[in-house]
Amino acid sequence: MGVISVAVAGVIGLAFPLVVRQLLDAAFAPGAEPGAARRALDGAMLLLVVLMLVQAAFNFLRTYSLGRTGEAVVADLRKALFSHLIGLDVPFFTARKTGELVSRLTADVATVQAAVSQAVAQLVSQGITLVGGLVLLFVLEPRLTLVMLAVVPPVVVVGAVFGRGLRRVSAEFQDRLAAASADAEEAIAGVRVVKAFGAEGLERARYERGVDAAFAAALRRVRLRSLFVPAVLLCAFAGLAVVLWFGGRLALAGELSSGDLVAFLLLTMFVAGSLGTFTGLWAQLQEAAGASRRVFELLDARPELPVDPAPVRLGRARGAVALEGVSFTYPGRDEPALADVSLAAEPGSVVAVVGPSGAGKSTVLALLLRFHDTTAGRVTLDGVDLRRLDPAELRANVGYVPQETLLFSGSVADNLRVARPTASDAELRAAAEAADALAFIEELPEGFDTLVGERGVKVSGGQRQRIAIARALLKDPRVLILDEATSSLDGESEAAVQRALARLMAGRTTIVVAHRLATVVDADRIVVLDGGRVVDVGRHADLMARGGLYRALFASQAGAGIVDGVPGP
Ligand code: ATP
Repeated sequence: MGVISVAVAGVIGLAFPLVVRQLLDAAFAPGAEPGAARRALDGAMLLLVVLMLVQAAFNFLRTYSLGRTGEAVVADLRKALFSHLIGLDVPFFTARKTGELVSRLTADVATVQAAVSQAVAQLVSQGITLVGGLVLLFVLEPRLTLVMLAVVPPVVVVGAVFGRGLRRVSAEFQDRLAAASADAEEAIAGVRVVKAFGAEGLERARYERGVDAAFAAALRRVRLRSLFVPAVLLCAFAGLAVVLWFGGRLALAGELSSGDLVAFLLLTMFVAGSLGTFTGLWAQLQEAAGASRRVFELLDARPELPVDPAPVRLGRARGAVALEGVSFTYPGRDEPALADVSLAAEPGSVVAVVGPSGAGKSTVLALLLRFHDTTAGRVTLDGVDLRRLDPAELRANVGYVPQETLLFSGSVADNLRVARPTASDAELRAAAEAADALAFIEELPEGFDTLVGERGVKVSGGQRQRIAIARALLKDPRVLILDEATSSLDGESEAAVQRALARLMAGRTTIVVAHRLATVVDADRIVVLDGGRVVDVGRHADLMARGGLYRALFASQAGAGIVDGVPGP
């Protein structure tokens, strides 16, 4: 529909000069009978009005339907891009900045949108004007047309040269803007840290540097653009002047009527105008090409962790978990975070991982969740290599309670249903109750329907932890990956969290990065990590008796638990 309207509007546009010619020839017809001349004039005028009305209607149709298509395409692109992004795995996100990805979703997609909704329509309508106009010009007066065409090559060359420069500068601008946005995003997300350290000045300076760099690139783009437009216009007007001059001579020689000359001039302006827009369009399309290249780069990014095409089916796992001679080096790092680490947890047992900061505790958890694949060795669930499992099945069997729980914008119920979308209200209540969270949830202004997260009410750290535990209970996994919070809560809250955790851990295999005394004392097995290696394994009493790192850790943190002395964020 859009393309048809574009075509019709374009063709009518071309008919316009011809009707004007008829009108003028009727008005200036030498020696015609006055009544007939007036009738011819009236007829031509009427035709002109009708043409303009029809063209207005088709212009409306064109703008509307192409605009709608453009918006729909962009909405689809945004959805596809986000859906693809969120499906990528952890290593992809480790290697990239959040702000940059968000900028791809917004700025780059918007640039592509401009191309889709405007440039394509322009391309069709200007193409019709250009080709149709040239044909008509040749029919009207071939010699004059050849003269006019002598100025086309310069316009094209100028356009091509500028277009290439513009594309380069535009891409640079977008990149720098994305980098600056990433800085801003980081500073805003971490505003509490920024404030606590009084680092506003530093952040200001960093962002200003980023924006200045983008500004410099933008200036280059402005400079190129401001040269570009006058240069193209100059070429077009030079052409027009030459045509006027040569056409005037033909008219003087009696080879061209006044109507012919005016029609010719109008058509020439149309053609010159469409050539001008064409070169501008070309630049715009180049810009869009740069933006869409970045968008498609993201769409082309494949998950980095291979998925087994014929995975082993576990169903509900028994819950035996093991690391077998695992080494792991983060991408871009030389030092391995884990070196030849083995540990095993029998179904239903609790294995605590302890060690000083940087020992590799969080890395063990990340590998168990298959956020990364091992560099050497293997991680198994019920004796099956995680790489051989269907990721969805792995996720269904393994639950995760992180140190810091992220609450999504939405109600408490929404946040719980993340774990199991089909959970009934009664199941939500039961999970909340077992997590010692029911009482405080019911005290919230709208109970389970209270909005939390970024735009909702704030809940305390201990309450967040209990929501996380309720989440994990709802999911009912066989294996629990637990990253204990380093920051200790006040006594009452702490006791509530401990009770909830005990209920959560009952009957499941638990691998826990332990910071609390109670956890390590009760653990079936404690694995002591240092510098990415296992330095000791045993129960609390054995390890204490052996002395060594464990006792040192314990002594330095006696009372508070086995924390590494770094307060949580
Ligand atoms: P903490 O108790 O302080 O959280 P940890 O024992 O959990 O420490 P890990 O977070 O597992 O230690 O880190 C082990 C090593 O891996 C460290 O040297 C760390 O610098 C490195 N490391 C951790 N995460 C990454 C990452 N995403 N990219 C690169 N290196 C990382």
